[in-house]
Formats: sequence, C-alpha cells, structure tokens
Amino acid sequence: MLRNHYFCILVKRCGFYISYRENEQDRTITMKTKIEKASKKQPKINVITLGCSKNMYDSEVLMGQLRGNQMAVTHESDKIGQDDIVIINTCGFIDNAKQESIDTILQYSELKEKGKVGKIIVTGCLSERYKPELEAEITNVDAYFGTNDLQNLLKTLGADYKYELIGERLLTTPSHFAYFKIAEGCNRPCSFCAIPLMRGKHVSKPVEELVKEAKTLANKGAKELILIAQDLTYYGLDLYGKRNLDELLRHLSDVNGIEWIRLQYAYPSGFPMEILDVMNERENICKYLDMPLQHITDTMLKSMRRGITKQKTMDLVNEIRDKVPNIALRTTLICGYPGETEQDFQEMKSWVEETRFDRLGCFTYSHEEKTHAHTLTDNISQEIKEQRVEEIMEIQQGISLEINQQKIGNTYKVLIDKKEGDFFVGRTEFDSPEVDNEVLIHAGDNYAAVGSFVNVKIDRAEDFDLYGQIVK
Ligand code: SF4
Repeated sequence: MLRNHYFCILVKRCGFYISYRENEQDRTITMKTKIEKASKKQPKINVITLGCSKNMYDSEVLMGQLRGNQMAVTHESDKIGQDDIVIINTCGFIDNAKQESIDTILQYSELKEKGKVGKIIVTGCLSERYKPELEAEITNVDAYFGTNDLQNLLKTLGADYKYELIGERLLTTPSHFAYFKIAEGCNRPCSFCAIPLMRGKHVSKPVEELVKEAKTLANKGAKELILIAQDLTYYGLDLYGKRNLDELLRHLSDVNGIEWIRLQYAYPSGFPMEILDVMNERENICKYLDMPLQHITDTMLKSMRRGITKQKTMDLVNEIRDKVPNIALRTTLICGYPGETEQDFQEMKSWVEETRFDRLGCFTYSHEEKTHAHTLTDNISQEIKEQRVEEIMEIQQGISLEINQQKIGNTYKVLIDKKEGDFFVGRTEFDSPEVDNEVLIHAGDNYAAVGSFVNVKIDRAEDFDLYGQIVK
C-alpha cells in the first residue's frame, strides 16, 4: 500500500515533471523569442570609458548590469545608429583628462544634433565634479550622473539594478586578465588631488565578496588580477579596523586558476610591510609594486601633504627591496608643483638617477579647483613643467634600457596578451598592461595562444621593450 502511495506520488511527480519539462521548454522558447524580439527592437547602448582603470571597472559593472537586463550593450563601438544610446563615463582628474572628457561629450552632442545618435548620458568623475556647469553648458545631453549613481542611471534606461549580479561584469580587457577594484574613494589629504571630491571617502569591499568575484573571474578564464583602488594599502582600515591587505591577498592567492596577482596604487605613508611577506610566500603574487611617490624633497612632500619625509621614503624603498630582492618598483611623480624651486627639481632628478625605479611615469602639476593646493600660486609656467617632465623621462629611459639589457639571456614566464603584426605581445610579472614594458616574440618562428603563459628567453632589449624566443 505504502509503496503504491509513494509510487503514486512519483507518478504524479513524473507527470508533473513531464508536463513541467514541456512547460519549461515552452517557457524557454517563449523567453528566447521574447529576448530576440526585445533586443531587435531595443536601441543599442554604447559605453565609452575615459580615464583610469577604476573608471574602466565601473563601465564593466554598468555593462554587466545592462546585459543582465537583456539590453544590447557594446563598448566603444564606432557603429552607432540614430536610435542608439551613448553613455560617456568621464574622467575629471586633471586638465588634460577633463579636456578629453569635454571633447568627447561635445563630439557626441554634435552627432545627436545631426540625428546620428539617439540619447547621450554622461556619468563618471567629470559629471560628479561639474554637474551643474555641464547641465548649463551642454544642454542636449539627456542626463548627467555622478560616480555613485548606478541605480538611477539604470532606472533612466528602464533597467533594474540586479543584486544577484554583484561581482559580475562585462570585461573590456582580454578575458585572461582583469582589473580588480578592492575599494572606492580615498581618505588621504593630498593637497593637489581632486579624487576625494569625486569618489568620496574610502570604502573597502568585504573579503568574502572579493573572493567570490575572483572565483567568478577565474571560472571565466581570468589568470591575472590587477588589484586597484585609490589607495590600495588603506584596505580594511574602515571595515576591519586594521590594514587587511595581507589577509585579502592570501585569500585571493588561494583562488584556483589565478596565476598572477598584481598590486597597483599603494601609498607610502603607513605602508603595510606584511604584504611583502605574502608576496614572498605566494608564488602567484607578482614581484611588482606600483607606489606613486609624487615627489622627494621635504618641502614639496610637506606642501603636498603626503605625510612622509624624504628620508622615510628612501628608507621605505630600500626596505621593500631588501625584503623582496627582485621586486619591480613602479612610481609616479609630479613636476611643477607650486613653489617647486630649481633646487627641488635638481634634488628630484638626482634621486631618480640613484633610485633607478624599474618603471616610472611623470606628470605636469594641474591646478585643480577646490583642492588645498589651489590656494597656492601656480607659479611654474607650463613650459617649465613640461621641460622638467621631459628631463625626468629622459633619465628614466636610460635607466629602463640598462635594466632591460641586464635581462638579455634570462628566461621569463610571459603572459601573451595579443598578436600584433608579426609579433606575439606579452608581459612578464614585472609589467602591468598599457603602462609598462612589453615582450615581443616574432610569430615567424614562434607560436603562442593569446591568454597563455610561455617561457621566453630574452635576446634583445630596447628602452621599454624586450624581444625573445619561446623556450620549453
Ligand atoms: S592617495 Fe592622494 S593622490 Fe591618491 S587618490 Fe588619494 S588623495 Fe589622491
């Protein structure tokens, strides 16, 4: 009897299951046709990203949400129709970047005037910083949003914010590497910097959420995570009451499939030395550190409110090199800060010559409203600012060539990013995408799949590039 009872249930269930499957199939078919019909009718949304990798990350999250709402979304496509929507994710950091953002908005505003674009939406840092001015000046933009306005932006497009998609995004980078934002905003008082005005206070993401995101990326083929934030080394202080980057690194390093973890945007003052222990301990954390130092003389560091002195900076660089002997150090400097004397500049030049950074970028000071430095007189001419940047980069070019020449004959693990002309182009663990050296491998007598790791023996070196052959 009993058996019959269960059997009946089973039959019923099977019956239900069969009919459920049929319904399910119907449902899937109808859903599919619905999506096809919908995407056919729906305007395409083209996202344009300006500025830094953190902005790129935000665009990827936005596109992931749009895709999650079954919207047709592209990134920087040049095929835009009259009904299509363009979202411009702007940068508002310094003069040049602001100009590029304004030029891009004007470019699409003109296209809209000519009926070649349906709607224009502007978001990101420039919009966060200058919304009222932009709304008054460029009136045919349909809507302006700030840096923390994703849900409203989506609503404007008739899309819902999908919580289930947290940690998911549509990558704009090749699938084998991804920028990985671990926090937003900044609590530092650097006098020249407008970023806290646009990105707000430092907010760390929970370790669990980041590990989940890393696993999702690894499952989709990511092998390299490039950790980014405004101030990477501040991670955890707000959330856990202590610097917690070392613990996060251990968790991320345990994620299957992740072969390289790279650190960008570390801050010198209060630098958490314990992360170097994890770097030594874990094979898959690149011996690479990007730490913008901005300047070196005590006068400039004090006026810039960097919270560190010349001696402490030099000690820190030496300590890092002692702890991780073959680490590649990248830094960023500013030339022409208010009050920078010729003597300050000469001191910085000799320091760059002595310190021999592996990678170095240098920018002209930009006099940004509402920053503390804006209360100072911008007394260095643009010509001298550019001259000083040029002199620093000339020194660095020589240093980079010498460092690269020392690599001839050595074999390095290289991640292949692309095929370009006759060459496969990749990077060693000492190189970040887009800003550092590349390894070029002639395709005539070598083959490597994009996204794969190969061993390359270096046989030629130039200022910022290495050449080599694939070896076993
Ligand atoms: S650390 Fe300084 S320079 Fe960097 S984002 Fe924060 S305030 Fe700006």
